Amino acid sequence: MSKLYFSYAAMNAGKSTVLLQASWNYQERGMHTLLFTSSLYTETDEGRITSRIGISAGAELYGKADDLYAWIVREHRKKRVNSVFVDEAQFLTKAQVWQLARIADRLDIPVLCFGLRTDFRGELFTGSAELLAIADSLREIRTICHCGRKATMVVRRTPEGRALMTGNQVGIEKSMYLSLCRGHWEEETGRWPLARAAAKPGQAKGKAKPTPRAKKPKSDSRSTPRLAAAARRSPRRVKH
Ligand SMILES: [Zn+2]
Repeated sequence: MSKLYFSYAAMNAGKSTVLLQASWNYQERGMHTLLFTSSLYTETDEGRITSRIGISAGAELYGKADDLYAWIVREHRKKRVNSVFVDEAQFLTKAQVWQLARIADRLDIPVLCFGLRTDFRGELFTGSAELLAIADSLREIRTICHCGRKATMVVRRTPEGRALMTGNQVGIEKSMYLSLCRGHWEEETGRWPLARAAAKPGQAKGKAKPTPRAKKPKSDSRSTPRLAAAARRSPRRVKH
């Protein structure tokens, strides 16, 4: 019986790079891989998994309504599939995660899913929650915060650099994402210090709104320009 794998990370950890390398390893041995990515992030009908370091490969685009089990069975009949790769797996529905599990269990084809663990509000994505629950193998792909600690959280920022805490989980045009450690994520999103988080916009002294950067601990005083620079270097612009 093959396994269902879930490799998870924060943004910009190199998930797609790992996926493409693993798929390549199969192909190098003459094996056939099937690649999927979510239609939510693409602007055209053509699916493609692109890594930030410059490698890419064509991929099927899956939407919420697709039956991935039926789809993969169909492809497998045409040409034997040795391995299935799913990028942006956070966007899978619960049912689709089970469909992929059946590919591993019933067809004996390994399925390797790659995705974000949590959204910019710090909450699990549906697909990731289900994968964390039922995958045979969990692996964390690590990336680091500007402070050097492991980055496990993602903030979504406006082009002006303001952290967003509300809105659609999938993202909006011109949003920018940045991976941070949990401590810096709480500061960036205004949840820490606690007193500031509790203050209502009208109550902040002399200001209409308490800005997330109004008061920061000393250790963080030099981080803001670096954060802004990091955000400029790796903007993730998405539609929908
Ligand atoms: Zn940090």
